[in-house]
Amino acid sequence: MNAPWIAPEIADAEVADSASDAAARALKIERETHKLEKRLCRQVGQAIVDFGMIEEGDRVMVCVSGGKDSYGMLDILLKMQQRAPVNFELIAVNLDQKQPGFPDHVLPAYLKQLGVPFHIETQDTYSIVKKVIPEGKTMCSLCSRLRRGILYRVADELKVTKIALGHHRDDMLQTFFLNMFFGGKLKGMPPKLVSDDGGHIVIRPLAYVAEKDLTRWAAHRAFPIIPCTLCGSQENLQRKQIGNMLRDWEKQYPGRIESMFTALQNVVPSHLMDTQRHDFQNIRTTGVPDPDGDTAFDAPELPAARAPGGVQLVQL
Ligand code: SF4
Repeated sequence: MNAPWIAPEIADAEVADSASDAAARALKIERETHKLEKRLCRQVGQAIVDFGMIEEGDRVMVCVSGGKDSYGMLDILLKMQQRAPVNFELIAVNLDQKQPGFPDHVLPAYLKQLGVPFHIETQDTYSIVKKVIPEGKTMCSLCSRLRRGILYRVADELKVTKIALGHHRDDMLQTFFLNMFFGGKLKGMPPKLVSDDGGHIVIRPLAYVAEKDLTRWAAHRAFPIIPCTLCGSQENLQRKQIGNMLRDWEKQYPGRIESMFTALQNVVPSHLMDTQRHDFQNIRTTGVPDPDGDTAFDAPELPAARAPGGVQLVQL
């Protein structure tokens, strides 16, 4: 009977293989996670620099909803605080809107354990919205108006100099297409702006960060996510459709999201049709050749969708 002699050897080899496989897998995951963390920090740092989001002495109110994006934003900002060339304070703020089933112990426990200064503002906007908006109608616009007002007041009370929101690159692109498709405007979501009451600077430090990276980071850090459907409001169908459209495009034409996002940072008003942005009336010849000038009669050369083996050029 050879089997008992052979079997243990095979079993040992299998155990050794599976142990080394597991170790290799663990190492790969660790490397990937490290790369992800570096990318998140680099992108947040770059956005802060590019748009002048945080300056020396700033006191930044980080709005934390309990979703993966705002947890990720707080997490990365805390890392940036350790290495930034400027000193700034962070204070996490959550607005408990008294939605049914909101687990109000989760965020305080998490923030306490993190050791970050925080403030929980409790305001029952849910009841107000329910009372005012007829059943079946969308509650979001009143709800967010109330939330905005409360957060501005809290920002004043806490004497913060910046309000940080957790919108990411994909939110910004979705907003851009929503405005184009349904609002007839080329308008995205600014990375930095003055609030509508004129009193606050709002920043979006995740402006360069892809949603899928935030999803992976949330899983790695095991954030105690609070579901965002507690209010019972329907998901914004149009935003969902745009999100699906962008994901389908990216699947079919890898790199398209990146390219569209880059386009938001490379606007050429003279090649659009907004008479407020470009003075078409007073266009005059210069008589001076411009090597970068528009050839007008030739179709532009554009890179085709990335194909295996390299980039092709197509004529339009
Ligand atoms: S989804 Fe719910 S909580 Fe969010 S804005 Fe709409 S009504 Fe308010």
